[in-house]
Amino acid sequence: MDINSNNFIQALKNRDLEALRKIPKADLHNHFVLGGCRTFIKEKTGIDIVPNKGVMHSMEEMHKWNDQNLGERFNSPEMRQLKIDATFVQAAKDGVQILEIGEDVWGLDVYFQSDIQMLINSFKQSQRQYGKDIELRLQIGMSRHCSINALEKWLEPFWDEKAFYSIDLYGIEHGQSIENFNGIYRNAKSKGLKLKAHVGEWGTAEDVRQAVEILELDEVQHGIAAVESKSVMKYLRDNKIRLNITPTSNVVLGRVKDYSEHPIKELYHSGIDVTINSDDILIFDSDVSKEYLRLYENGVLSERELDDIRMNGLKNLD
Ligand SMILES: [Zn+2]
Repeated sequence: MDINSNNFIQALKNRDLEALRKIPKADLHNHFVLGGCRTFIKEKTGIDIVPNKGVMHSMEEMHKWNDQNLGERFNSPEMRQLKIDATFVQAAKDGVQILEIGEDVWGLDVYFQSDIQMLINSFKQSQRQYGKDIELRLQIGMSRHCSINALEKWLEPFWDEKAFYSIDLYGIEHGQSIENFNGIYRNAKSKGLKLKAHVGEWGTAEDVRQAVEILELDEVQHGIAAVESKSVMKYLRDNKIRLNITPTSNVVLGRVKDYSEHPIKELYHSGIDVTINSDDILIFDSDVSKEYLRLYENGVLSERELDDIRMNGLKNLD
């Protein structure tokens, strides 16, 4: 067993968060607008962003938190850059070695003067300055409620840029039928992008299967509802579909009653490729090291199983 695994296992047993932070890990489900380091943002702006307390009952409540804690004052190109910087600061502090993040397609016009090179460089520059040891997997982001026409128009400047690694779909899970995105995903596949979408957080196991089948997804963000169906779990395992899971987000948003009941246990034990990630650090107080520790302390997975998942996240998909 390698030294990192030994140290990681020991750190879990000692419940030593600082030691956990030193061990390499991946964050493959991170929304940079809410992924930043709280103390860095405070230092730069004087603004205290306080994580949510208790359970939220809907995405609307999450948007309300967003308006109260961030709101308009963060909606400028300068503050967008600050959020990107804060995300690399946070990731570096937390021992994240692979970070998959990216801008929403509409952000190109609003924050980067419609200049795709400016957008790409702002992530790369931030990575060089604050996270030089981090592998950046740059993602193209889309919100599910946006019209397909608008998305196709916004996507045009992104398609031929080799800097992008993946494409993701998020926002209101049932914003519109998943079939509508077929054309966009066929195009993304032809460009060699890894295909991801948020599904099975608010929806069902069948929603997960459908999204994977129709969009030919490589990875699912959340996907925890798959646990409701043995056949969907088998389908995910047989097709080597990765689930990028975010336990604290699931608990805070009331998708899972308690850490001890988190479906990651059953999904992992049924042989599905799972990873552990942060989602929205500023709201959920959910950095990646804390996620591992919480699953360990709640007896969901053993220290060896958690290390196996950590190592899995650092492996490349075929
Ligand atoms: Zn997410």
